[in-house]
Amino acid sequence: MPELPEIEHYRRQLGQWILDRPIDRVHLANPRSIDVTAEEFTAAMEGKSLLFLERRGTFLIFHLDNGHRLLIALSKDGALYCGEGEDQPPFTAQVEIGFGERTLYIAGRGSVLRLLTVRGLDDVVKTLGPDPFTRVVTPEYFVTQLKKRRGALRSTLTGQKLVAGIGPRYADEIAFAAGLLPSVKVQELNGESAARLYDALDHILTAAIEAGGCIQVPLYAEDKLTGGYLSQCRVYEKEGQPCTDSGALVEKMDVSGKKAYYCPQCQYEQTPVFS
Ligand SMILES: [Zn+2]
Repeated sequence: MPELPEIEHYRRQLGQWILDRPIDRVHLANPRSIDVTAEEFTAAMEGKSLLFLERRGTFLIFHLDNGHRLLIALSKDGALYCGEGEDQPPFTAQVEIGFGERTLYIAGRGSVLRLLTVRGLDDVVKTLGPDPFTRVVTPEYFVTQLKKRRGALRSTLTGQKLVAGIGPRYADEIAFAAGLLPSVKVQELNGESAARLYDALDHILTAAIEAGGCIQVPLYAEDKLTGGYLSQCRVYEKEGQPCTDSGALVEKMDVSGKKAYYCPQCQYEQTPVFS
């Protein structure tokens, strides 16, 4: 499932491919990708250029040169591919957006695209918490906001309210990096644990973005970066495999009806303080 690092990686990489090039064709294989008719969508897109790429949580947002926004919400199996000329993506595309010689292919049967005004976009993203990389989210802000929340760490991280963009994979990896069990109640965390949690969140998301996230589909031919963080994940979906730190076998637990992966030797109720 694409989470913040995957989408931020796309945002950083896509600019060189598609900015400032007029859209000259749109092909929709799946009409459920959009909420208007294909004719309306195509008419609204063709001839426009993209001025800027933005990310809010896990939404990728294209700023069109007529002031409108195109929001892309990738589904669990969603991915993007930039092809040039005859170069085809390694997946069945749901949507294709052409920029002359180049084409942006969008995968994922549940992926959706929405053409929005600035106000319409605000309505979509207003329920999201702040992005963890905005200036507002300082360590002090994070700890203060965390103290106001109740519930399991796993659910709080994936809830999109404390900060936006974290899903199951990075919630588990952040909890591991912080030395905290996914099931701990955030209201019971002490100041040291909360501070370590912020550091873990910042470190894991930054490292994952720089390593290209975890989507196993290249973004373009010759792409060697995308998916590079997959080999660095420590616990997510690694049940039964030895922890790279302690050698203990990674386990799976149920947290509010969701699976969470953790190391029974490295993760605690509070972040341990080693002296
Ligand atoms: Zn361990």
